[in-house]
Amino acid sequence: MYFKLHSGTLNGIGGEIITIEVDLSRGLPTFSIVGLPDTAIRESKERIRSSLINNGYKFPMKHTAINLSPADLKKKGSYLDLPIAVALLCATEQVISRMEEPILMIGGLNLDGSVQQNRGILPIMVAAKAAGFKKIIIPSQNYIEAGYIEDVEIIPVNNIVEAVRVIEGDSEIDTVKFNTSWDETDAEDEICIDYEDIFGHESAKRAVELAVAGAHNILLIGPPGSGKSLMASAIPSILPALNKEERLESAIIFSSRGIDNSSIMKGIPAFRAPHHSASSSGLFGGGTNPVPGEISLANNGVLFLDELPEFPRGLIEKLRQPISEKNITVIRNGASYCFPAKFMLVTAANPCPCGYYGDDKKECQCSDNQIRNYRRKFSGPILDRIDIRIQVNRVSPEHLVFCKKGENSKSIKKRVTAARKKQIERYEDYSFKNNSEVPPGLIDKLFILTAKHRNFLVEIMKRHDFSGRSYHSILKIARTIADLDNSENIEIDHIIESVAYRFI
Ligand SMILES: [Zn+2]
Repeated sequence: MYFKLHSGTLNGIGGEIITIEVDLSRGLPTFSIVGLPDTAIRESKERIRSSLINNGYKFPMKHTAINLSPADLKKKGSYLDLPIAVALLCATEQVISRMEEPILMIGGLNLDGSVQQNRGILPIMVAAKAAGFKKIIIPSQNYIEAGYIEDVEIIPVNNIVEAVRVIEGDSEIDTVKFNTSWDETDAEDEICIDYEDIFGHESAKRAVELAVAGAHNILLIGPPGSGKSLMASAIPSILPALNKEERLESAIIFSSRGIDNSSIMKGIPAFRAPHHSASSSGLFGGGTNPVPGEISLANNGVLFLDELPEFPRGLIEKLRQPISEKNITVIRNGASYCFPAKFMLVTAANPCPCGYYGDDKKECQCSDNQIRNYRRKFSGPILDRIDIRIQVNRVSPEHLVFCKKGENSKSIKKRVTAARKKQIERYEDYSFKNNSEVPPGLIDKLFILTAKHRNFLVEIMKRHDFSGRSYHSILKIARTIADLDNSENIEIDHIIESVAYRFI
């Protein structure tokens, strides 16, 4: 008595298709699973046995062999409980399958036969669709994620009995329809901090708008209580909505970690703000069965590191590679996993250990040496990768009391979105889409400068002793300013403003 079914497992952030073969023969009652199962799968016997008995089925008292293939892939998690249980029912002819095309089934089981919610269902569904499956059974709790998958019939089930009904050809079970109703209006409802509620700080707001418009990394420096964190926390209110591909890419990463991805589905980019006590694997990804870390959860969105100098120096240094390469490779047990990490870095720091260096009201208590050591933590290679650095000063009480409300996030977002659209059009023949991503080798080709502008730049470079990297940053920011200004070319004014963001 033999039966074959398909299921899936999670490998990093990717889904893998698994074939389950069940064979029953005469002999002593045994239950063995071969094909590199992990502990969770090896322990599935008790869950499957109880699920079958508690729902009126018989657990076969025969020599039972279950083979999982491909044989060289390690199978992880409890995803295979439900398909193994259903395959046992079919192999023992307690259930007759009327499925004409291959079906893929995923779900862990509780002892009463109800199906458990699983992490990583979305990447498995994506892999199943790519492999040509037209019907997928998933745990009902994961049904929202199924809305991402087009042209596949997805059937959420609550328990083993419902899965059996599907196998027996019952057509009355509800399937999930592809969700096409996501749009930007959904996204705006969930934004809580609006720039109009942050009083003063006009130059810092301008810098943040620029940073978002060109996806530039930004550093906010200022004394405690100056509003740096608030300024950063309002960034989601002006981030352009994710497109369809970005939503799916980010939702897969969230799904692999078992984190709610419903706001990603609405097009709201991720905003991740890990604490400085986060571990290296928490930030960059890792673990025995590697999962993506915070920098990958921030993919297509923002990674906000508040109090940057409080992070261990090694972690700050380690950020350089993902900032440049837009991904991170984690190596575990001889296998390597590549996780996307295309984020905009937003970071904040006090100007010195006491926090008041350069403040006009309070005196700094730090020695030159203390300030030098403190700044060394975020200077050098990491600072080189931050295009915009801005001082955020404390707002005076007079300003707070008498200041009028500023521009609201909705109208800032409109400008930012228009500027991003211009960049996407300009770079349509390239693999990047924002000004911040233009490689040095293409700057001369893509940014058109007159002789007058070039001479002006030479003057500035000489006067301030700027490096080559600074030169490229200045031009990229100037390009973003020009885009916000609706200007075809970079003008002298754009360059002048751009230079002002390099003095930290
Ligand atoms: Zn100080």
